[in-house]
Amino acid sequence: MFAQKKTSTDIQSIEALVPRSLITSGGDVLGAEISSEGLCPLRVHLQEGVIRKFEIIENFANPSMGLLLPRLIEPHTHIDKAFTWQSWPNLSGTYQGALQANLNEYKERTIKQVRARANKALNLCLRNGLRAVRTHVDSFGWIGDQSWEVLLELKKDWQPFIDLQLVALVPLDYWITDHGKTLARKISRNRGLIGGVIAPPYEKRKLRSLLMNLFSLANDLSCGVDLHIDETSITPSGGLREMLNVLDHIKLDVPVTCSHLSSMGLLSQKAINFFADKLAHHQINVISLPITNYWLLSRCPKSTPIKRPLAPVKQLQYSGVNVAIGGDNVQDPWNPGGNFDPISLMANAVSMTHIAPWERLGLSTFITAPSRLMGLEWDGTFQKGSSADFVLLDIDSWSGAMSRPPSRKIMIKGKWLELN
Ligand SMILES: [Zn+2]
Repeated sequence: MFAQKKTSTDIQSIEALVPRSLITSGGDVLGAEISSEGLCPLRVHLQEGVIRKFEIIENFANPSMGLLLPRLIEPHTHIDKAFTWQSWPNLSGTYQGALQANLNEYKERTIKQVRARANKALNLCLRNGLRAVRTHVDSFGWIGDQSWEVLLELKKDWQPFIDLQLVALVPLDYWITDHGKTLARKISRNRGLIGGVIAPPYEKRKLRSLLMNLFSLANDLSCGVDLHIDETSITPSGGLREMLNVLDHIKLDVPVTCSHLSSMGLLSQKAINFFADKLAHHQINVISLPITNYWLLSRCPKSTPIKRPLAPVKQLQYSGVNVAIGGDNVQDPWNPGGNFDPISLMANAVSMTHIAPWERLGLSTFITAPSRLMGLEWDGTFQKGSSADFVLLDIDSWSGAMSRPPSRKIMIKGKWLELN
């Protein structure tokens, strides 16, 4: 179980720098001073856990004012295997090395370990300012079933603090087995999602058949789908091509997310635009995972790769695709680093993807886009009546947030969180 948490008494107002692009009821803030990074000095009045109104702070000169963000979202991670690097390192840094170490660890994984890793991860998520987390769960066989039991229990325990979404991660052909179908029914009853991995070599006919089975199952059970797809530097968009082919032959009634789509970034602009338009047409969400992509892909022992496989975030956005950025693996064979810190993720992703938090579309990848693809009630923008759920950073600029992991205070429904 997690450490006891306390919350303070109701707070009446907060003075802070607020990203102007996040304020959707703009009337109150017309005429507010806006910094070159798009931040407005505002007094945010609260009442009964929601925003009551915004007040402009004139002649702003308070150097101690912090940067106010909504509590953030991690749309793609793996809490069941987090913190396993020390025991199961992947020193070669390759995708195959990571997979092998993961499979070796899985053979020895215990439920006690899953519970401990998940609790440690969720504690960090809360402290670092996350309000919702989607985690993939290694789900095949007995330990997979038991992991679901534990994580569903933790989902309930953590519900007052973090909205935890669970996605079953299995080979695609697991969903044609009786065991897989039983698991899918259980997932559906518990509002989870079904997933899988699409990676080269692509056996086209078999892949299309497995995807048709997966989407039909998802439709029948009203389960969302989140796939690891094209996390590779070879055969660009080989999996995406087959998935889109299948989607042309089935009417989807559930939300679908493509995680990674890394090799798509290696295509020509024309081909990128073609696939991006098709993804938009089918209303497929995308999660870019730059940190693990930079760590694992295009490995070559004697050269540093210059061309990096990465989802083409901006081209996808310009085609109308909902694109979020996630942190993926934390201290496991797939990535030695990470700490479930959305601000550190943002700082790293800025250099890798050239998205910028002072641009509306850049900030959307961390706030509104993940909220939308996770189907959350609140999109993370600020308006009268929206939840007073904040991360208050002790820095006064985006540059400051990018420079070092800032210390922060967390507010949940109008009360500061006090952690033991
Ligand atoms: Zn992943």
